[in-house]
Amino acid sequence: MNALTIQNLSVTYDKQYALEDVNFSIPEGSLTGIIGPNGAGKSTLIKAILRLIPTISGEVTVYGKPYKKQRSLVGYVPQRSEVDWDFPTNALDVVLMGRYGHIGWIKRPNKKEVQYALDCLKKVGMEEFADRQISQLSGGQQQRVFLARALAQDAQVYFMDEPFVGVDAATERAIIKLMQEWKEQGKTVLVVHHDLQTVKDYFDHCLLLNKKPIECGPTSDVFTMDNLQRTYGGSISFLGNNQVMMQGG
Ligand code: ADP
Ligand code: MG
Repeated sequence: MNALTIQNLSVTYDKQYALEDVNFSIPEGSLTGIIGPNGAGKSTLIKAILRLIPTISGEVTVYGKPYKKQRSLVGYVPQRSEVDWDFPTNALDVVLMGRYGHIGWIKRPNKKEVQYALDCLKKVGMEEFADRQISQLSGGQQQRVFLARALAQDAQVYFMDEPFVGVDAATERAIIKLMQEWKEQGKTVLVVHHDLQTVKDYFDHCLLLNKKPIECGPTSDVFTMDNLQRTYGGSISFLGNNQVMMQGG
């Protein structure tokens, strides 16, 4: 069973294509790295799938049904740099937002919901920070709050946009552990990732993207020098011994 199928997805900004006729499927229970150069449309892809931005065309199917009907099955950890961290809210409220799919927007969260949210914060080591304004948290702590929110969503399909950027090593390990737990629970996880050295360790599937999918499939099949060259063009160097490096990186 495919957890996610994308058909004919196109997105433009100011009449320029950011994504052009994107088609791919992701099998249930896979851990997929979304790989591609800056400006390849990785964040755009996630936002288009989640209907956060307008699209020119495209169909998104989650577990065989249109996304519209499956919204509550999908969780999202946005790119940290795209979040307004000055928004006046505390860590607990951010996590409770993850529960709105379950409790509805109108109802106030009850004690059980608050306890659930606190348990999610605890799971990521952030229980002491429940009352802390999100602007007063470090980068790693902010990312953990978003992980707690994703946990609270209890989704089947998760999107994470560059979760490792600007976090400390302990948070990186916590994120990897969580991704692997989700996979073990049969959930499907898609992660925008830009450290090519760790792709083979972290992900069993890859989507190589540059405005269009270059390849999509098991990492062992598609994460090859040849395909990386096709994805990154001239902006990649090969160091031999299967090592790759971004120019200037
Ligand atoms: P990635 O996440 O792969 O780095 P993005 O999806 O953020 O790439 O962006 C893809 C392209 O679309 C880039 O050329 C970027 O400059 C452009 N773009 C992204 N968001 C906007 C926007 N809101 N308005 C205009 N152009 C945008
Ligand atoms: Mg991005």
